[in-house]
Amino acid sequence: MRLFALTGAGVSAESGLGTFRDKKGEGIWARFDPMKLATPEAFARDPEAVQAFYDARRRNLLGAEPNGAHFALAGLERALDARGGELTLVTQNIDDLHERAGSRRVIHMHGELLKARCVRCAAVLPQREDLGGSSRCPACETVGALRPHVVWFGEVPLHMEEISAALVRADRFAAIGTSGSVYPAAGFVAEARALGLGTCEINLEPSDNARLFDERRYGKASEAVAAWAREIVEAL
Ligand code: NAD
Repeated sequence: MRLFALTGAGVSAESGLGTFRDKKGEGIWARFDPMKLATPEAFARDPEAVQAFYDARRRNLLGAEPNGAHFALAGLERALDARGGELTLVTQNIDDLHERAGSRRVIHMHGELLKARCVRCAAVLPQREDLGGSSRCPACETVGALRPHVVWFGEVPLHMEEISAALVRADRFAAIGTSGSVYPAAGFVAEARALGLGTCEINLEPSDNARLFDERRYGKASEAVAAWAREIVEAL
């Protein structure tokens, strides 16, 4: 089996990292305005506010731990690898909890919070400390040119060619913990259907795209993903 799994903020919710949107209106974007914090224009206008927002999220991430959903996906990757199959794990999450749970191949289409990028020389560097306006790029030595290595609204997601190739190669598609409202990721399920893949959604509640999935499982990711992964491994 060649499985393509797309994960979103719901996978990390039980690790204490807030989601962006939910139907109760309690997500991060209900409390903060994304246009003031997650766009290139916002960074140009008020870099301190943008850096402070991501500094707080980075500190939060460093204190978080992977949950059962991350571990179940890492176990599924190992089980598929051992039987000549493949799991392509594409995440919209900027956290590193899939890696910390043991997933070996993770494609971060929206970037990584524990990395910084230099807007001057494009170097991508590990970043665990707060990013102040006086940070110096170790590659080109420019001061004040480092930004979080995350994809903001209006920017093009990363690794799209690799993602398209994996979707074409796959025979099954799953979307896990994602509201189905941020494109292009929200469009993957329609592409998967057009390619003839079986589609499965695992989420706390029906996503905006729920009707496009053949199979729907609702519950907490830590339990629902573990049960789904177990069934796949048993049927291999
Ligand atoms: P989203 O916030 O739009 O949607 C999250 C979905 O997860 C919702 O449908 C919600 O019902 C569901 N959910 C909440 N708790 C859950 C749980 N315990 N188990 C299963 N599902 C649960 O997130 P998204 O679709 O990933 O939105 C895309 C954007 O959010 C991306 O740009 C991504 O970079 C960003 N984001 C990332 C993180 C992170 O890195 N951990 C956190 C917040 C947002």
